[in-house]
Amino acid sequence: MGMDRDEERGCRELLGSLAAKRIKEESKRLLQELDGYVPTLGVVRLGERGEQLSYERGAMKRMEQFGLKAKQFLFPEDVSEPDFFEAFRKINRNPSIDGILLLKPLPPQIRANLADEAIDPDKDLDGISPVNISRVFAGEERGFAPCTAEAVIETLKAYHIPIEGRRAVVVGRSLVVGRTLAMLLLKENATVTICHTQTGDLPAECQKAEILAVAAGRPRLIDESCVSQGCVVLDVGINVDQNGMLCGDVDEIGVRKKAGALTPVPGGIGAVTTSVLAKHLLIAAKRLREL
Ligand code: NAD
Repeated sequence: MGMDRDEERGCRELLGSLAAKRIKEESKRLLQELDGYVPTLGVVRLGERGEQLSYERGAMKRMEQFGLKAKQFLFPEDVSEPDFFEAFRKINRNPSIDGILLLKPLPPQIRANLADEAIDPDKDLDGISPVNISRVFAGEERGFAPCTAEAVIETLKAYHIPIEGRRAVVVGRSLVVGRTLAMLLLKENATVTICHTQTGDLPAECQKAEILAVAAGRPRLIDESCVSQGCVVLDVGINVDQNGMLCGDVDEIGVRKKAGALTPVPGGIGAVTTSVLAKHLLIAAKRLREL
């Protein structure tokens, strides 16, 4: 009754758990290739901030699930910059640490750009080093991309959603998510547009998308008017709305009426990030042992 095919099919839910499962299978193979060696993640945290603690817990749990080890390096929030960097360089050089996760944001006395430059690029699992950024932007295999940006690509691949030749729009241009994700989509041969706060007509740009990835950090920024029929929508946003509820950057109820597929929040992209981290740890360990 007047419904076109996309509406009849409804909006597909793209679950992070499926992408995580696929990464786990791949990681099992990588672990076998290490002949009994079990890599160790070094988690570096300064202070006790709530969101860092919960990300750390998630990362530690994931390492355990993947049969990997993790060690915490904890510093007081007011650690001096020289003391921190002296210790951080030791962690970098520690041969029993195969990869490092430096939890951000750092307290103000620690210059973040110095930390990004100090981390050993071959242990930099979340792609903060300028060396890795350059590798990722150049489309080189060797670069570690930030785990969240890569989680979007992993989700598309887990659901066999073609990227090549498609019009992809990314909302957000931060280095850690939007900008890097645009580069990863470009590497997969999408035709990519990046939108940001100064974009003239956001709905018009988004409507051109066959793949729409949103990382703006604005609750329900993307509504029905931004989405064309059948669009694949990936919601990277993690926000708390006025009612204290966790929500993404996408108005799920409205967008579901038109989208062909959508990642939920929670349970979507956020559920894939630590699996990418585990995979990066295995890749780092393999490379370090080959050097
Ligand atoms: P950010 O604030 O650094 O960047 C936001 C970007 O969105 C900016 O480039 C800005 O130009 C753009 N933007 C903001 N408002 C906009 C608007 N009204 N119209 C168009 N563009 C707009 O944030 P970030 O670090 O990139 O994170 C983005 C979101 O992703 C946040 O909700 C964050 O919590 C989430 N996030 C999730 C994970 C994860 O899943 N593990 C990891 C990192 C970030």
